[in-house]
Amino acid sequence: MLSDGLNQTIYGKSVFKPILFVVSAPSGAGKTSLCKEIAKRTDRIHYSVSYTTRSPRPGEVDGIDYYFVSRQHFLEMKESNLFIESAEVYGNLYGTSRKTIQDSFHAGKDVLVDIDIQGAELIRKDNFGSVSIYILPPSRQILEERLTKRGQDSSETLKKRLDKVRQEVHAFNLYDYLIFNVDFGQAIDDLHAIILSEHHRRNRMENFVKTDFLPRFEQENPLLT
Ligand code: 5GP
Repeated sequence: MLSDGLNQTIYGKSVFKPILFVVSAPSGAGKTSLCKEIAKRTDRIHYSVSYTTRSPRPGEVDGIDYYFVSRQHFLEMKESNLFIESAEVYGNLYGTSRKTIQDSFHAGKDVLVDIDIQGAELIRKDNFGSVSIYILPPSRQILEERLTKRGQDSSETLKKRLDKVRQEVHAFNLYDYLIFNVDFGQAIDDLHAIILSEHHRRNRMENFVKTDFLPRFEQENPLLT
């Protein structure tokens, strides 16, 4: 479990407002494992499960890894404005559910979305006050090793992914924060530090301080008279 920093209450009220965190990375940099792990360690962060038209890989479970849907179903959802963003990646469609984000925000939880560069760009434009994080691999060789070992893709898809990685690393300059995923434990700590720091930004806490903290602070009976 992570420390309780995200659960802080002052005068009985939760200090932090939920934030949407957008995480992207070149294939194989380990972002999905990072996002899932951090969401497991605290109930204040919800990992958003995306919809996709891709077929499940061995071991993937519907509703946990993705909601696996037909292309037609996906396009109907898109038409009904049920996604906050969607994009085509390697010939398959992927989308982030608007309702998942709204429900998590109502429950006071941050949301982590693990999406590609196009999706991150769409969310950035929509001005949700989101924070974006880019995960970088320690080296090209390690990335290739991780992707090959994963053994989840056909050799054709693998080749496509590897070709794309070269361009993908340059996307780092579109993001607010960068993490090198050298050591998994360290990368989790880095991600947690970023999440916590964002909540502590004055502009995010200002409203709480003005409307909740200060009025109570000023009305409180002093102990020393
Ligand atoms: P994979 O098929 O390997 O799970 O994912 C392929 C790419 O699609 C990854 O870069 C992943 O982050 C991205 N992706 C997963 N879900 C979404 C989503 O909801 N929207 C967008 N735009 N990309 C997604």
